[in-house]
This record gives sequence, structure tokens and C-alpha cells, in this order.
Amino acid sequence: MSFDRTLEDIAAQAWAVMEEIGRLTGTKEEGITRPCYGEGEQIAAEKVTDFARSLGLELEPDRFGNLHGVVPGADPSAKAIMTGSHLDSVPGGGNYDGLAGVMASLATAAAALRDGGNRRSIRAVAMRGEESPWFGTAYVGSRMMLGHSTLADLGGLPRFDTGRPLQEHLDELSYASAPVMPISRETVAGFFELHIEQGPLLTAKNLPVGVATDIRGNTRYPEARCLGEYGHSAALPRAYRHDAVLAVAELALEFERFWEEAERHDPSCVFTMGKFGTDPSTHAMTKVPGEVRFSFNVGSIREEVIAQADALLSRLLDSITQRRGVRFEMGPRFGSLPSRLDPALIAMVEESAKAIGHDALRLATVGHDAAMFHQAGIPASVMLVRNANGSHNPRESMAEADFVLGARVLGGAVMLAASG
Ligand SMILES: [Zn+2]
Repeated sequence: MSFDRTLEDIAAQAWAVMEEIGRLTGTKEEGITRPCYGEGEQIAAEKVTDFARSLGLELEPDRFGNLHGVVPGADPSAKAIMTGSHLDSVPGGGNYDGLAGVMASLATAAAALRDGGNRRSIRAVAMRGEESPWFGTAYVGSRMMLGHSTLADLGGLPRFDTGRPLQEHLDELSYASAPVMPISRETVAGFFELHIEQGPLLTAKNLPVGVATDIRGNTRYPEARCLGEYGHSAALPRAYRHDAVLAVAELALEFERFWEEAERHDPSCVFTMGKFGTDPSTHAMTKVPGEVRFSFNVGSIREEVIAQADALLSRLLDSITQRRGVRFEMGPRFGSLPSRLDPALIAMVEESAKAIGHDALRLATVGHDAAMFHQAGIPASVMLVRNANGSHNPRESMAEADFVLGARVLGGAVMLAASG
């Protein structure tokens, strides 16, 4: 049987296992919850280990709980090709963000084990804790696996729901004696990640698969506050007010204008204030609002657009503070630089899609584990599979046929890289 036929068969089995993991770790209405180093993520880890074993592929954990399955290549001195994604989900998320990439990578490795003939070894990896809500930072598993952070750096971070430190949650899973795997630019020639698309573009264009050209960078303030002064809504003339809602609204609308302007030369630019609220314990219809808590998030694939956003933010904070007599406490800033994904790997994804009769749409994407590989100097690629309803919500959708097709495109690209 050809590699592609074998992969098609195994991907259909992988789909069934993925649906089972979805049933075990959530409900359709409330969504899927697989906490980093928590119960749902561990259920997924055990299920994928059993599934891989049934296909002859042994998964081995590393010190950080990431699971690795290796298909040896004909040339043991050649660098490996890696593929994978993450097992966790956001609280109340969908089943496919992360897990689809894990299943497709395991299907790829299992098919290579049967019908491969690959020169380089292929390493499939199921990673931990990519989503930031659990410990307030993203990419926990890949970050430590690639040496960007150590367990000493992250071990003390409390999980938002249990309050217990990361180290305690990890220790419960007994990976203390597992090895730190040598994953670096010295040992890995390329990393491919399949991921559900988190926007609507593939559905809108009626295309099943895409390939990312860039990962957006961003400038983010998750816990900002604007402090004004509470007052009587009827008694206080405008000139005496220090209205926190109007102050933050001005900031929001100014940034919408910045976004409209930026979009003309940078369609990847995005601006969001996902959190924006007065305090229910002190607010009232008849009070001038004295405090607003909000988040601020600008993303782009262009470094200069992020720098312009930072500069505009600091100008606006000054001028709004002066004119409106309010005070901003922006809290910690988290930022990341944009990553340009590897052109040779993009070409391999496109060639693989073409070989089975599809054009992969080129588009920008958001942060994924692939960004950690890229930052470690390993060529990285993200391919995207159509999804109508966005991600990080229970309505995430993926058709089985699209998943199988995506796995075939991923597998084809991995084989091209592993033979080169
Ligand atoms: Zn994801």
C-alpha cells in the first residue's frame, strides 16, 4: 500500500479516537476542558498513548510530560523531522484546537512506520500546556522542552483555578525520572504543526487547508485599569467629570482608527479589548463611572506595526490622562515578536497539497507551539484546517473529511522533508 493510502486509513482511526477524547473531556454544550497537567489533559495523554501503541508506535514521555514517538530513518546521523501540537484546551474550549494536530502527527508517524522509507527519523510529539489561561503563560511544554524556560522558571506559577503551583501539578504525573530530550537546532531539521484555523478565511474561500506564512507578534496588557472619579450622574457637569468609561472608550476608538489605517498596508493587523468592564460592586446607572478594568491587545506580522501601536498607546495615555483627569495603570506588558515561517517548509506543504489535488491558501496565523521551535532556530511550519466557528469555544467545528485531508497534506510534507 502507498504511504498516502496507509495514512488515509490511519487518519480515519485517529478521528474516532479524537472524538472519543472529546466525549471524555467535556460536553458539546459546555465545551472541552483539558487543563495543563490536569485531569482532562492526562486522559488525552493516555488515550493517544494507547492509540499509538495499537499502531506499533511507542510514545515516551519527557521530563515535562510531552510525549514523543520516533520512527527511525535510514540515516541515523541526519537531523530529525518533528511534527505535533498540544493536548490541552482552554477552559470550555473546543475539541480540535491542539488535539487535531497531535492526532494528525501520530497518524503520520504510524504511516511512516509502515510504509515510510524515510532518510531522516520522524519524531511525533504531543505537547503540554500550550494555552495560557492555566498558568498565565503560553507554550509551557514546548517552552521547557526547547530550553526557552526551565522548570525552576515556571515551577512556581500558580494554576488559576486550583492556586497550586505548576511543579506540584507536574509532580503528580510522575515524570520526574523521564529524560530531557535533546530537541534543538542541532538535532531537528524542521517542525510541522497542523492546527485548526482560528479565523473564518478557509470557510469563506471554500478551501479545506491553508499554510501559514507568519505567526503574528503582539503587544498585550491583560490586566489594565483606568481610574477616574465616581460622581452623581445628574448633578455633575461635564467639565467636572473624570469618567473612566469615556476615557477607555476614547482609547478603544482611537485604536480602531489606527487599525483601519494599518490595515491598508498590513491586513494581518488586529486590535482587541476582550475585557472591558466597570465594577459590579460599585457601579450604578446613576453614577459617573470611576473605574474600568480592561485588556489591550494589538497583533501583527510586522514588527514596525507593533512598535507604532506601542508608541501610539503611550501618546494616547498621556493625552487622555491630561484632558480627562483620569489615571491609567496598565499593569504588566506581555509582547512577542512576529515570526516569519520557513519558506522551504511552506513550499513542501503546498507541494504535498497539490499532489492530492488541493491548493493550500497562504495566510497569517496566531501563536502556536511552532513559534517556540522557530525561536529556537528550527525551521517551522503551521498548516491550517478549515473551521467555521472560530476556536477557544465549544462550537469549534471540523469535518472528518477535512481532518483526513489535512493529515494527508501534513504527512506528505513531513515525508518530503524526511527524505531531503
Ligand atoms: Zn492551539
